[in-house]
Amino acid sequence: MTDGEGEFGLLETEEVDGVGDEWEEIDVSDTDADRIARKRDREFSEFRKRIKDADQFKVEASVFDDATYGALYKLVQDGHIDAFGGPISTGKEANVYTALAGSEARGASEQSSGDSEEPRGHEVAVKVYRINASDFTDMRGYLDGDPRFEGIGSDKKKVVTAWVRKESSNLKRARRAGVRTPEPIAVERNVLVMEYLGTEEGRAKRLSEVHIENPDTAYEVVQEYLRRLYDAGLVHGDFSEYNIVFHEGQLYIIDLGQAVTIHHPNAEEFLERDCRNISNFFARQGVETTPEELLAYVREYATPDDNEDTAPGSDDDAVPQGRLEDRRE
Ligand code: ATP
Ligand code: MN
Repeated sequence: MTDGEGEFGLLETEEVDGVGDEWEEIDVSDTDADRIARKRDREFSEFRKRIKDADQFKVEASVFDDATYGALYKLVQDGHIDAFGGPISTGKEANVYTALAGSEARGASEQSSGDSEEPRGHEVAVKVYRINASDFTDMRGYLDGDPRFEGIGSDKKKVVTAWVRKESSNLKRARRAGVRTPEPIAVERNVLVMEYLGTEEGRAKRLSEVHIENPDTAYEVVQEYLRRLYDAGLVHGDFSEYNIVFHEGQLYIIDLGQAVTIHHPNAEEFLERDCRNISNFFARQGVETTPEELLAYVREYATPDDNEDTAPGSDDDAVPQGRLEDRRE
């Protein structure tokens, strides 16, 4: 890699529940954010004005709806966020910002890391889905057929709310399966707060942006990530060098919003596409790989447990270290 760090390691894996276990009955119809936006008390109105006037939100302010401000306000009130930083990325459907972690996030990270100088917890990444910009027909295609999201309906706000929750639970599931991903910290309506990957100098670079000195090792890790995800019942669905970042000498997988469970009618098609993207990228780096070999490897060495009827509710027990909760139901 560019900074000379070369060896990638793998995490220990944990027992993963049956696919769908993390899902529970949720009410996506009315969120705290919506209620805050409707009520518009003075404090909220001042908050909204302050954010709207902040330089880093100038462009986006016009596309944030009131309930998005409501969601950001709630996240501040709940102690997940202290202050907003600048944008890291403005995408088609979502913008990602840095923010200072609130007391809740800081407290939790201090607890788990003792008095060590662990930087974790000072900055967080905030992914804000723009309800109106979102391509809903596209999103529906990923949600339909996922047992965790049956009966969500077609209301835009519900779809996005479900999407953000799905992204958070996918991140948790991937982490439990031993795949490095940002830790989800909180979800509120169309906003996901997660661990920030990067330094004060900036966000972690994507694999597409760095020179990889040891592509063979990197490939082995990514191949193992693909296998572990599949083994845990998940297919990323947008796996490529753009959604893998290099952070603290390790490879992290990001952007799991569209990841589907293996029950999804298109899961196999997505897996094939993921393998093709990954294999083609690493082949260009000189690694001996073909999409077919990679796909065969994943299929041969993963044994996903496709029991979707296991009783829900065991999710919390399985979260490693139990640092932070994002459940508010
Ligand atoms: P795209 O449509 O460009 O794929 P997206 O809207 O689906 O993007 P992500 O891929 O999740 O969103 O994030 C966009 C970019 O923001 C990423 O490529 C990455 O550079 C940055 N990013 C996302 N999450 C984090 C994080 N937790 N820490 C640091 N940077 C992040
Ligand atoms: Mn992405």
